Amino acid sequence: MMRPTLSFEFFPPMSPAANLRLWTSVERLAPLGPKFVSVTYGAGGTTRARTRAAIATIRERARLDVAGHLTCVGASRAETLDVARDFAKQGVRRIVALRGDAPKGAEKFEPHPEGFVSAAELVSALRDEGFDEISVAAYPEKHPEAQSPDADIENLKRKLDAGATDAITQFCFDTETFFRFRDAAAKAGITAPIVPGILPVENFAKMKNFAGRCAATVPAWMEAAFGNVQTEEESHLLSVSIAAEQCSEMMANGVEHLHFYTLNNPDLTFDICTALGIEPVAMQGVVGGTA
Ligand code: FAD
Repeated sequence: MMRPTLSFEFFPPMSPAANLRLWTSVERLAPLGPKFVSVTYGAGGTTRARTRAAIATIRERARLDVAGHLTCVGASRAETLDVARDFAKQGVRRIVALRGDAPKGAEKFEPHPEGFVSAAELVSALRDEGFDEISVAAYPEKHPEAQSPDADIENLKRKLDAGATDAITQFCFDTETFFRFRDAAAKAGITAPIVPGILPVENFAKMKNFAGRCAATVPAWMEAAFGNVQTEEESHLLSVSIAAEQCSEMMANGVEHLHFYTLNNPDLTFDICTALGIEPVAMQGVVGGTA
């Protein structure tokens, strides 16, 4: 089987300890030679500054290609595009363009009076700014606000027609559901790559809670399997084997790129890659390699 290309998603740290954890994660995963890594983006000024700082640190210290996530929440079009320009000044070429969710306390997403109303609008503006690597979000189990699966695929097509180059999916533990979604997208005329987002399960109870908020299904077989786990080590092994099996099934069915939601925990992602036979690549001038 061909070696897939990889990307690793991190979130910006909120404390010195978390900063260390991010850095340890980057240091451990960089030798796997990701095509890019990405840093998520939250609502609120301080969170945004943290995204900027994390991007700068990863670019300077690990010399990896870093994608900046960008949302439309709580900012005018001009402010949102200022952030994109600032990313570009930092050397960021790829943007993960998102609408974003309602901020804490608000029931649903309300666009800023002068803001972008959807990810498709943001993609179009980013294209005009000269970005030519733009990823967007896709939902194998449908975005919770979408009227129907078909309407959601139409929205994905709108984002790609607006100039996005690929889509990264919400995590989806049932691999057949991912394949059905990919087939439906192809039927709707989507030809851009649909990259599966892989979520290694670090803590089953926390993941289940999070999955509920994203309307992602946690299969009964997974619940039963994690129910039998006694120790952290067993949980780690189970997570690695579930994700590795999912990835290898995807690779056997034409998936060429895997995107890992690392949650800034490098060990699970590293061990899944090892289980897939993905070895560290020779690195020139990056963390852990020869300068
Ligand atoms: P959109 O594509 O704009 O869609 C939002 C909803 O509106 C969908 O239901 C869609 O079907 C519907 N819709 C849009 N336009 C139309 C239309 N014209 N007519 C009818 N319906 C329409 N969130 C963050 O805050 N920060 C992050 O860093 C972040 N990273 C993410 C990375 C990935 C890979 C994924 C999958 C999600 C990420 N998210 C992030 C979550 C994302 O912001 C939410 O899922 C959000 O609710 C939707 O964003 P979107 O870009 O998919 O929105």
